[in-house]
Amino acid sequence: MPVPKRKLSRSRRDMRSANKGLDPQPLMFCHEGSCQASPTPRLPHQVCPNCGFYRGKKVLRTKKDRALSRDEVRSKKAQQPQEGAQGE
Ligand SMILES: [Zn+2]
Repeated sequence: MPVPKRKLSRSRRDMRSANKGLDPQPLMFCHEGSCQASPTPRLPHQVCPNCGFYRGKKVLRTKKDRALSRDEVRSKKAQQPQEGAQGE
């Protein structure tokens, strides 16, 4: 079985990988959900990371959605009078 005479240095190995050349991913624009106002770029056949929509359906809770629900919970807690802290 043929065996390489020397170890391929990191540099040489990476130079080879660099020439394999990946094509840039095609981009498309999302026009659904919260992206309707300002279309954002996204990869085709993938869920939009900005609004969480795929083919007209909401399929993902985005960071923004979580932040909104967190804010709601916090404002509810702030409205309720605090118990236990000032009990005498
Ligand atoms: Zn979107």
